[in-house]
Amino acid sequence: MTTTFAALGLSDPILRSLVELGYEEPTPVQAQAITLLLAGSDLIAQAQTGTGKTAAFALPIIERLAEGAKAGRAPQALVMTPTRELAMQVAEAFHTYGRHRGVVALPVYGGQPIERQLGALKRGVDVVVGTPGRLLDHMRRGTLDLTALRTVILDEADEMFAMGFVEDIGSILDATPAERQTALFSATMPGPVARLASAYLREPARVTVGTSGMSVPQIRQIYYEVGGRDKFEALARVLDFERPTSAIVFCRTKLEVDSLGDRLVGRAYPAETLHGDLSQVQRDRVMQRFRAGQAEILVATDVAARGLDVEQVSHVINYDLPHDPENYVHRIGRTGRAGRLGCAVTLVTPRERRAMQSIARVTGADIQRQVMPTVADVLARRQEQFKQTLRETMAGGGLEPFIIMAESLGEDYSPTELAAAAFKLLLGEQKPESSVDLARDADAPGRRDRPDREEERAARGERWGAGSKGGAGRGDRLGRDRADRDRGAGDRGDRERGAGPKRAGFQTAPGLQRLFIDMGREDGLRPADLVGAIAGEANIPGSSIGAIDMYDRFCFVEVPQAAAEQVLKALSSAMVRGRKVKATVARPMVRR
Ligand code: AMP
Repeated sequence: MTTTFAALGLSDPILRSLVELGYEEPTPVQAQAITLLLAGSDLIAQAQTGTGKTAAFALPIIERLAEGAKAGRAPQALVMTPTRELAMQVAEAFHTYGRHRGVVALPVYGGQPIERQLGALKRGVDVVVGTPGRLLDHMRRGTLDLTALRTVILDEADEMFAMGFVEDIGSILDATPAERQTALFSATMPGPVARLASAYLREPARVTVGTSGMSVPQIRQIYYEVGGRDKFEALARVLDFERPTSAIVFCRTKLEVDSLGDRLVGRAYPAETLHGDLSQVQRDRVMQRFRAGQAEILVATDVAARGLDVEQVSHVINYDLPHDPENYVHRIGRTGRAGRLGCAVTLVTPRERRAMQSIARVTGADIQRQVMPTVADVLARRQEQFKQTLRETMAGGGLEPFIIMAESLGEDYSPTELAAAAFKLLLGEQKPESSVDLARDADAPGRRDRPDREEERAARGERWGAGSKGGAGRGDRLGRDRADRDRGAGDRGDRERGAGPKRAGFQTAPGLQRLFIDMGREDGLRPADLVGAIAGEANIPGSSIGAIDMYDRFCFVEVPQAAAEQVLKALSSAMVRGRKVKATVARPMVRR
């Protein structure tokens, strides 16, 4: 059963914020808790970080805020949290969700000068979010007026107990108005939490997320712990390492889907996006391309992916953790269909560790934590796959013309030298551990405070790993192979411009180099624009340009190998259809 935020009884200003945030529908805990809290009921909710619990209590609180005299208003809601980080996050969430109602939330926690908090309290706030110790300090000083409180939330109650806040919580609750509404959110319900609930809550409604009796598909399931800021790099690494033939990458919101889709395409990963804002026609087109194997990666929200019936999804990647165990099972059920091998990869931030453990526990799934592969791991795997392809090629026969070539060269070179030269050509330059520095341990000290390295690089005008190859960018990143990268796209895209007789297999014609361009049909790009730009800017004859494979958000174009660098350079300063275009050597696509 799915529902909408509007159906839960939330009003326009809040619904607008949710649309702006790209939330498509309530999470299970929200669907259950919001109506109950709006009705004034007390509540015990068993839900942890990642389930959307913050909005589950923040939205009804905002909805029920009485419009009062703004200046000097006393707080109408109080949220207790175990840590200052959570207090800050929750206060921030109130601002975000309540921005069209001018909600003011104040985080109060130890370690911050109390004077700053005093000033804000005097000016008037709607919601106070604090750690129990600091809240008590304020109460003792008489600086926290609790008389107007209508709702009190105990967030992560089990954590607060584990941290020894039990007496403080009792003292605070004793000082709040008796007719208040009280809700307790906790990942687990140990005895003391249940006892506190029965002492302070009145006929509470109960909400739990996560159901039993789920049948988890038998597929390889792994997770990586990554720092929040490293998530995108981690995804890129996973894609490089796993080399999915077709993957669905799940995000929580439409905004994240769009932004991730853009970042992937910007890095030359052929990705398409799917979310609830697309028209049926757009949706059908995306799905058609994904099903046909024309876009390897589909970035989607849960809502958009619901009901998708796609055979042959090799990988499901949870870029954001699913909201609950059931959601996890739904998502990963998209791979491993019809007895095929499938793999589910989940990226987990340190804060989400407990939620991940709970998903594993509730579903009974065997989800292995793995260490993030290094660049060397990626290279090693690539070599292994290459060797396997070689073995298959030898087994497949049809080598005669090449044997003649090898024999003629064999007069001057040893077989090993010959093979090594061919490998070098096909695999590209082997790079050692590059500047890509993805911590293998998401908990490494100081990681959370580090600036976003990619933003930093972008600000400096650098591209990831582009350094040594004259801006070839991702094409050479991680030592991607050149010829291999050309596989796949040639016979899979819409061939807008004929490339003469159809070539055997999916090799780019000898002497041609396939380039990836970060513009496509949706940008209004037509093959003629591209030919014009390349021929004009790089000063090469239009007739020397090979096939153009046009997609919605990107395209591939073949240019003479000898002119490839020249074309890349010319395009780097060219405007096409009024916008700067990024061109890189196309990355490999291995179809297994
Ligand atoms: P929480 O469990 O409150 O820590 O929330 C986890 C994450 O889910 C936060 O990043 C929220 O912004 C996000 N979130 C909460 N509710 C929704 C929703 N209905 N749809 C999409 N994302 C959500």
